[in-house]
Amino acid sequence: MSSVPATTVVDQVRRAVASVDDPEYPGVSIADLGLVETIEVEDGSDGPVAVVGLIPTFSGCPALDMIATDVQHAVTALTDVRDCDVRWLSGPVWSTARMSPAATASLADQYTVVLRRKDGGLRCPVCGSDDVAVQSDAGPTRCRAIAWCASCRNPVEVMR
Ligand SMILES: [Zn+2]
Repeated sequence: MSSVPATTVVDQVRRAVASVDDPEYPGVSIADLGLVETIEVEDGSDGPVAVVGLIPTFSGCPALDMIATDVQHAVTALTDVRDCDVRWLSGPVWSTARMSPAATASLADQYTVVLRRKDGGLRCPVCGSDDVAVQSDAGPTRCRAIAWCASCRNPVEVMR
């Protein structure tokens, strides 16, 4: 049996999980997006089993299967972990408030994805104008809508 303290293994698992990027936004980790809720390490019959509780961001997104697979690969690569069990939690409900400032900035800078402000307004990530209007609910995925900035005329994706 491993003599590594459980807390150290949890830290290793936490770092491994944090290294997983969202498949739709390479460079933005699922930890920064606020998906990671619980990380536990249980004693399995063959060794430590990591149990990772994730919160689905945008219900119905096909990326969820990819995320679960990526997390399993990253965590089971750890020498102190025998297996990894990824569970999608039904609560708490994900909201854009769970995103880190770094993730919010990365989405705006690299992907021109913006979040709705609390007042429902939008700000163009390209030019900073508030004159952004959602044109269609038919975004590239069900997670997002396409908006247009009337000031710089760039398309902007709006995260629901
Ligand atoms: Zn603009």
